[in-house]
Amino acid sequence: MQTQLKQVIYVSEKIDTSSDSLTDIYDISQKNNSEGGISGCLLIGSNSYLQLLEGPDSAVENLYSKIKMDSRHKKVKKLFERNIEEKLFSSWSMKFAPFSNIEWGDKEFDAGKFQNISAAAAVKVFKSIKEMIDG
Ligand code: FAD
Repeated sequence: MQTQLKQVIYVSEKIDTSSDSLTDIYDISQKNNSEGGISGCLLIGSNSYLQLLEGPDSAVENLYSKIKMDSRHKKVKKLFERNIEEKLFSSWSMKFAPFSNIEWGDKEFDAGKFQNISAAAAVKVFKSIKEMIDG
C-alpha cells in the first residue's frame, strides 16, 4: 500500500528575527526534510511565518509537533490540513521565500503580516509561488 501524503499550512508570529536563526532553521530543514521525504515552502514575512509542509502523513505530523514547540516563534496556528495525491513543492526540501521578493497587491500582506490570513488565501499564495517557480 502507498503511503498517504499530507499537506499542512500554518501561520506563526516571529520571536527570534536574527538571520542566524533563519540560517539554523534552513540548515536543519534541508537535512531533516530530505531524510523524512518532506518538502514545502516557508514564507518569511516581516513579523510572521507562513509555512506549507507536505510529505508522508506521520512525518508531517511529527515535524509539525516539533515546529509548534519551537521557541523561535509563537502563536502557531494550523490553517489547513488535507490528504494529497501529489506534492506541490516536490523538488524543494524547504523553499525559503523572503517576502520582499514577492508582491501581492494587498497592503497588509505586502507588509509581510500574515497572521490574519484565511486558509483559502494561504493556499492561493502557495499556488502562486509554485507558478512563479515553474515560470
Ligand atoms: P535538534 O538536534 O533538536 O536541533 C537542531 C539545531 O536546531 C540545533 O543546532 C539546535 O540548537 C537548534 N534548535 C532547535 N530548537 C531550537 C530552538 N527552539 N531555538 C533555537 N535553536 C534551536 N525543522 C525541520 O526539520 N524542518 C522544517 O521544515 C522546519 N521548519 C521550521 C520553520 C520555522 C518557522 C521554525 C521556527 C522552525 C522550523 N524547523 C524546521 C525547526 C524545528 O522547529 C526543530 O527545531 C527542528 O526540526 C529540530 O530538529 P532535530 O530534532 O533534528 O534537531
